[in-house]
Amino acid sequence: MPRPPKCRCIGWEPEVSTFQPAGVPGRALEQVTLSLDELEAVRLADLEELYQEEAARRMEVSRQTFGNIVASARRKLADCVVNAKLLRIQGGTVRLAAERTFACEHCRRHWSLPFGSGRPAACPGCRSHDIHRTIEKEKGEKK
Ligand SMILES: [Zn+2]
Repeated sequence: MPRPPKCRCIGWEPEVSTFQPAGVPGRALEQVTLSLDELEAVRLADLEELYQEEAARRMEVSRQTFGNIVASARRKLADCVVNAKLLRIQGGTVRLAAERTFACEHCRRHWSLPFGSGRPAACPGCRSHDIHRTIEKEKGEKK
């Protein structure tokens, strides 16, 4: 029996989950389902332009697995656009990175918030608004 697939870590969740070609009734369209891990793989590889090794590390999968995921995702996206299919983004064996970290440019403070809590308006230390999000915490890094 095959082992259940390992969870793939994603650092981001899409706000829009359905894309549909304009001017074609939804019923008449074939559907393609892109899983959240596939979307995350193309995001890391093609938008953030990470090397596969780094992208694989972020998703906590092997480089080979990452290559398979991203290849499948690209094929599905091409199929959708070329053949005018409806794209649904859902599913996949994923878990969100547990925390997002922010940094203050003013006092250099770093802090973390759980996912889904919204972007903070100001630094909790000095109240500066000059803050930005940092990349996901390194594994094993001290808090
Ligand atoms: Zn600050």
